[in-house]
Amino acid sequence: MPRKAKAVLCRSHNKPVTVEEINVDPPKRGEVSVRLAACGVCHSDLSAITGTIALPLPLVLGHEGAGVVEELGEGVTELAKGDRVIFSFIYMCGKCRFCVSGRPVLCLEQGRALTTPLEGSPRVHDAKGAPLNIFSGCGAMAEYATVSAENLIQVDAKIPAECAALVGCGVTTGVGAVFNTAKVEPGSSVAVFGCGGVGLSVIQGARIAGAERIIAIDTLEAKLAMAKRFGATDVLLAGEDPVKALKKLTGGGPDYAFECVGSGELAAAAYRAIRRGGLAVVVGVAKPSDATSIRTMTLPFEEKTLTGSYFGSCVPRVDFPRMLALYLKGELKLEELITRRYRIDEAPQAFADLEAGRNARGVILF
Ligand SMILES: [Zn+2]
Ligand SMILES: [Zn+2]
Repeated sequence: MPRKAKAVLCRSHNKPVTVEEINVDPPKRGEVSVRLAACGVCHSDLSAITGTIALPLPLVLGHEGAGVVEELGEGVTELAKGDRVIFSFIYMCGKCRFCVSGRPVLCLEQGRALTTPLEGSPRVHDAKGAPLNIFSGCGAMAEYATVSAENLIQVDAKIPAECAALVGCGVTTGVGAVFNTAKVEPGSSVAVFGCGGVGLSVIQGARIAGAERIIAIDTLEAKLAMAKRFGATDVLLAGEDPVKALKKLTGGGPDYAFECVGSGELAAAAYRAIRRGGLAVVVGVAKPSDATSIRTMTLPFEEKTLTGSYFGSCVPRVDFPRMLALYLKGELKLEELITRRYRIDEAPQAFADLEAGRNARGVILF
């Protein structure tokens, strides 16, 4: 029998989300039903609402989820009822050249599990029985979700769900960009453009990696104050020429720069700012039409690198436990990222706060 659950839906672009009662089917072969405990409100959810990330509607939002295993489908042996799990929004086939070479975020099958469970038919329906799509194989902004077992990573039961949830997207995206994509070295200098949940995670990743200088750049004073609490050694209010300021602060440019906003202009600024031989990493997701322009000649003459990082170039089964180990050691701040907690009925407010830049992270608690 399907279970009734409250869920946060996007029914039309650029309209407030709705909170509705939906029906969640029990798990089929290879699937698991999870009772959600917490779900982060991520900028990618907002991008689905605005249409920047083109996912079919109506859509059950949410991918930064944590909860408890409620029911197992046939053939699922790696999890048990009562296990605590985090959702992973990337699907890993485990067989393609990217999966076998340790880069599952680039899995060739990625698109297949984007809006429905892998097997293909929707597991959730609205009150009238119409099928619903789910965000990136998750649909975690709901009291219950039925997803592929591959999308779930087991975690230590003593970790609070609201903290575990954040590791499922924003934290891993930021810290992973530092550890896995850039491989930031101790004693280096790092610039971070944009201090939302991901930018703050880049900042704390750089602190843990032993960066000597961490320079945060944002348009909001409040975010710069937060950046300092997460490990920024210097802050710059955006507006003036940040490239000039960064070159001056670091005596020629930082070793690394991270763009965490999703702007071609800022990606170019990050590239211009880095020293010769430096590395600029684009983490933010820009609009499809956005483009970046750099002086081509600087590529050979200055041996600079401009690259991207998707989901922290992570391997969820390796990196999620690694992030949580750093949290348990007191090095990775997770509670501190949570600006505000919401009930599911307050989801429209949660998105309004995210859009206004009021939160490092908002979390819906179930
Ligand atoms: Zn694959
Ligand atoms: Zn996300």
